[in-house]
Amino acid sequence: MAYASSSLKETLSLLSKEGELYEKLPDGKVICFACGHRCKILKGLPGICKVRFNQNGTLYVPFGYVGAIQLDPIEKKPFFHALPGNKALSFGMLGCDYHCSYCQNWVTSQALRDPAADAVAKPILITPREFINLALKQEAKVVTSTYNEPLITSEWAVEIFKEAKKEGLVTSYVSNGNGTPEVLEYIKPYVDLYKVDLKGFQDKNYRKLGGKLETVKTTIQKLVEKGFWVEVVTLVIPGFNDSEEELRNIARFLKGVSPYLPWHVTAFHKDYKMTDPEDTRAETLMKATSIGLEEGLFFVYPGNLPNEVKEYENTVCPFCKETLIRRIGYKILENRIQDGCCPDCHAIIPGVWLKKDGTLLKNLLKNQAHE
Ligand code: SF4
Repeated sequence: MAYASSSLKETLSLLSKEGELYEKLPDGKVICFACGHRCKILKGLPGICKVRFNQNGTLYVPFGYVGAIQLDPIEKKPFFHALPGNKALSFGMLGCDYHCSYCQNWVTSQALRDPAADAVAKPILITPREFINLALKQEAKVVTSTYNEPLITSEWAVEIFKEAKKEGLVTSYVSNGNGTPEVLEYIKPYVDLYKVDLKGFQDKNYRKLGGKLETVKTTIQKLVEKGFWVEVVTLVIPGFNDSEEELRNIARFLKGVSPYLPWHVTAFHKDYKMTDPEDTRAETLMKATSIGLEEGLFFVYPGNLPNEVKEYENTVCPFCKETLIRRIGYKILENRIQDGCCPDCHAIIPGVWLKKDGTLLKNLLKNQAHE
């Protein structure tokens, strides 16, 4: 059921409850630590994300609705090393702590910041149990918080994921990585998979999007150390982040975290307010892929241009070099991984896999970070 009200802001203020990721200050201000902005918020005002707000010295946060629901292949998130070929039921709320001009989810993420988004964004009332029943009915093995920045709506995601865990479902975040130690600790018991957008390697560009490079780098390191399954995505945008130097710097940083960390280099297409750069060409993605492999990453995947990137969408055993998973776009053509291992050389393959008996196996990067 869509929620009817006179304005989106009023509606969302009703769909809120007291948050858990904040601290009250004696003067009535609050400090929110759901994301790296760490807003100190005066009474009566919202934080940078616009959806968490201080009402009489209490922080209220989004709760009890979704802005969008969709069933997708897990490869679309993208996770390539987690339950290949399975479905993920995704939900998003409204609002974001960044304001990227090329956002592909701007209707949900830029709500309360862009009147064009407000005109079409509609919260849909749902309970965690109803959402999980939907996932079970659709035979999704994974549930995902995405479409807006999940960190800023973590209290609601955790509520849904608690129900997901009762049914043995795998849970995931698709996030910009603007994290804090507190929010990562808070979500750790409930979130299995974590995708981070690493949008470039220049702090000045990160500031234009509303973030800081250092915070995202720290989040990636902490996620691996804490034992989340992590995959990183860089949307390669001509003229913004596609220089050899920048791509090489990203690859070197990721290799330093773990050479087994999957890096998706995906193609940009004109979106939202960023319409100047040309769409990313296959040659550029192949250049980024080669750079990642040269720098010592084992799993580099060019994305968004299926059929134009040859066999590079496949997963290859880092040890014996045999092909393990064959893909075209989001479609799995063959998966040869057996109980988390290469069937040829029996090496352990990093990722989250389903065993033959249906149980879950986690081969985590934190155990392999410095091999
Ligand atoms: S989630 Fe981030 S942007 Fe929103 S109020 Fe909290 S610290 Fe500020």
